Amino acid sequence: MKVAIYHSSDLHSIQIAQNLLELLNDKQIEVDDMNPEIVITIGGDGTLLSAIQKYIDNIDNIKFVGVHTGHLGFYTDWRDYELSELVDAIKNRNADEVHYPLLDVKIKHMDDSINQYYAINESTLRKLSGTLVADVLIGKQLFERFRGDGVCISTPTGSTAYNRSVGGAIVHPSLKVLQMAEIASINNRVYRTVGASLIMAPNETITIRPVLNYQRTFNFSADRIDLRDNDIKEVHYGIAKKQVNFLKYRHTGFWNRVRNSFIGDIDEI
Ligand code: NAD
Repeated sequence: MKVAIYHSSDLHSIQIAQNLLELLNDKQIEVDDMNPEIVITIGGDGTLLSAIQKYIDNIDNIKFVGVHTGHLGFYTDWRDYELSELVDAIKNRNADEVHYPLLDVKIKHMDDSINQYYAINESTLRKLSGTLVADVLIGKQLFERFRGDGVCISTPTGSTAYNRSVGGAIVHPSLKVLQMAEIASINNRVYRTVGASLIMAPNETITIRPVLNYQRTFNFSADRIDLRDNDIKEVHYGIAKKQVNFLKYRHTGFWNRVRNSFIGDIDEI
């Protein structure tokens, strides 16, 4: 079994990565950053998002494990003081796997060339100044003309991240759906959007097609990727064929994690 370590750049995470490397060597577990079967991330949720981008081309053959060096993360199950338990669990292969959907995002440019991105949390299309005016299509059908700051298209595991901050619903990750949440839509007697987040069936797609006679500098994001682009004809969103595999050595139930992260311990209620 080949393992890669991917860590954030703070000193504590570097130290934990060093400790982990020694433990892997002690157990004669091969370390291979190029072609790993397991990637252990050390840091926070953001570190895991970056690791997914790094290994995206071979993602179907990789399983991720997250060690958090700060507060409890949504993708990071292990504490930094549990490394030897983690290495034993890897050595003994006694883990279940869980698979989470990825967002498949395609930006079509004015010359019809396409750039593809993947996101495990979300992708946004926004305008930081002025109003984003864009047609929203579900499948090939026009659904609405959106006016506002932007839209956030998220996966179920991303539903607790940016999506939640803009009022989207929290979705259980066993559902392979995508969600579109509005970011500060304009709703008055002249302009109208649905005014609620939409949760799409697994085979449905969303296309955001900016209306071109309006100013055209967009902010596009896919997880940690953040671009300014003034050459966007449309952005197409669907559930990817690829998915992200996680090794689950323990089961923190999803709703427990949501409660612990956003409400607090049950005895504090
Ligand atoms: P960051 O350092 O700004 O962290 C943002 C926070 O989001 C961290 O506390 C992280 O633990 C948390 N987070 C990340 N994924 C999560 C998830 N699936 N569920 C619940 N919380 C989650 O940024 P980063 O670490 O580079 O992470 C990038 C992510 O930050 C983006 O994918 C986006 O979802 C999120 N974000 C949120 C807002 C917001 O809520 N207003 C704004 C920008 C980015």
